[in-house]
Amino acid sequence: MPSDPLIPLVGIGTDVHAFGDEGRPMWLAGLHWPGEVGLAGHSDADVAAHALCDALLSAAGLGDLGSVFGTSDPQWAQASGVSLLSHTAALVRDAGFTIGNASVQVIGNRPKIGPRRDEAQDVLSAAIGAPVRVSGTTTDGLGLTGRDEGVAAIAVASLIRSS
Ligand code: MG
Repeated sequence: MPSDPLIPLVGIGTDVHAFGDEGRPMWLAGLHWPGEVGLAGHSDADVAAHALCDALLSAAGLGDLGSVFGTSDPQWAQASGVSLLSHTAALVRDAGFTIGNASVQVIGNRPKIGPRRDEAQDVLSAAIGAPVRVSGTTTDGLGLTGRDEGVAAIAVASLIRSS
């Protein structure tokens, strides 16, 4: 069903990755985090970037990360979260949308987002060509993030039709 062209479209995305082996680099919210154990996955496992991709694709009605990039496609196997995000933003624009803004919340005990929030926002905003806000929270020791098993992220994005 077509939406009202005057009303912005919103999308939502989530992602979760478990912590990987000791020594794996941590990539989160477009940044490398020295001294932190990284998240497991066949890519850089940047949950914030992946959640933002899904939010943008959802808003544009273009499917999801799995359907667009294919988790088994070797072309994307080693792609950084930021490069996937840039590519996603280009797809969304090619489909006739202007990206309004996006917001992502990282859920986990570590790393702490606050001290590097501005840096993360700059990198992610540059990747999509629109403002991205980054926040962090914990789950009071509950669930997989509370037990230090991994990190999750939830993102939203808004688009308007440009054509
Ligand atoms: Mg992922």
